[in-house]
Amino acid sequence: MMPAMRPVIIAANWKMHTVPAEAAELAAIIASRTAVADVIRIICPPFVALAAVRDALAGTGIAVGAQNVHHERTEVSPTMLVDVGCTHVILGHSERRHQLGEDNAFINRKVHAALAAGLSVILCVGETLQEREANRTEAVLDEQLTGSLAGLSADRLERVVLAYEPVWAIGTGRNASGADAAAMAEIIRETLGTLGFSARGELTPVLYGGSVTAMNIGEFLTEPSIDGALVGGASLKPDEMAGIVARAGVTARARAVHVS
Ligand code: PEP
Repeated sequence: MMPAMRPVIIAANWKMHTVPAEAAELAAIIASRTAVADVIRIICPPFVALAAVRDALAGTGIAVGAQNVHHERTEVSPTMLVDVGCTHVILGHSERRHQLGEDNAFINRKVHAALAAGLSVILCVGETLQEREANRTEAVLDEQLTGSLAGLSADRLERVVLAYEPVWAIGTGRNASGADAAAMAEIIRETLGTLGFSARGELTPVLYGGSVTAMNIGEFLTEPSIDGALVGGASLKPDEMAGIVARAGVTARARAVHVS
């Protein structure tokens, strides 16, 4: 069935790139080149550049997101992110899971804290190459979704976007195929159903992330179960972002026609 009401979203994850002045300049250039109706655009710079990017994006319609948040009084809190102008936060990114040892229970506490503060969460899930080769992809997605979303009410899921990011595709130049990513997006929605979110889960956007470029974005966005992309390396290049968002606009318009 056509995902009638799901938005098309392009989120940029700048990781540890850019200091505030560079970030503001890059954000302004990207804003000027991605003014495409009906595509939700989100830029997630490093913490130190959030305020500069917020100011650079004022009036452009592009949302600002953070790359992490903490649920305890240890680091950056959800209310600090709201105060600096963030509407979104990325949680469960594979680099935090695998390099910093964040497990699903820990991510779950951050998901609750972020949602309680009014943020929307871009929750990343995805298998390693080893897990994939051991045919554990579905089991891993199930564990990650069950653990990270534990205790969430259906109304809170309204502010959750899922990003399927196979670890072997992140920053490697080796993307999943569109068909593969679409199959995983469907599994993610089925899992949301088994977690008791069936109606809401159908409306939950699922993005693909992992070596997305302007050249390959079409392969993902022709899949009805994929609602956009979380873009790393290519999101630092205005030409790439312009191409990616332009292609997302084609999908957004096609979906709108389909439901009208
Ligand atoms: C990411 O870091 O979330 C990501 C998808 O990176 P890249 O697009 O560079 O693979």
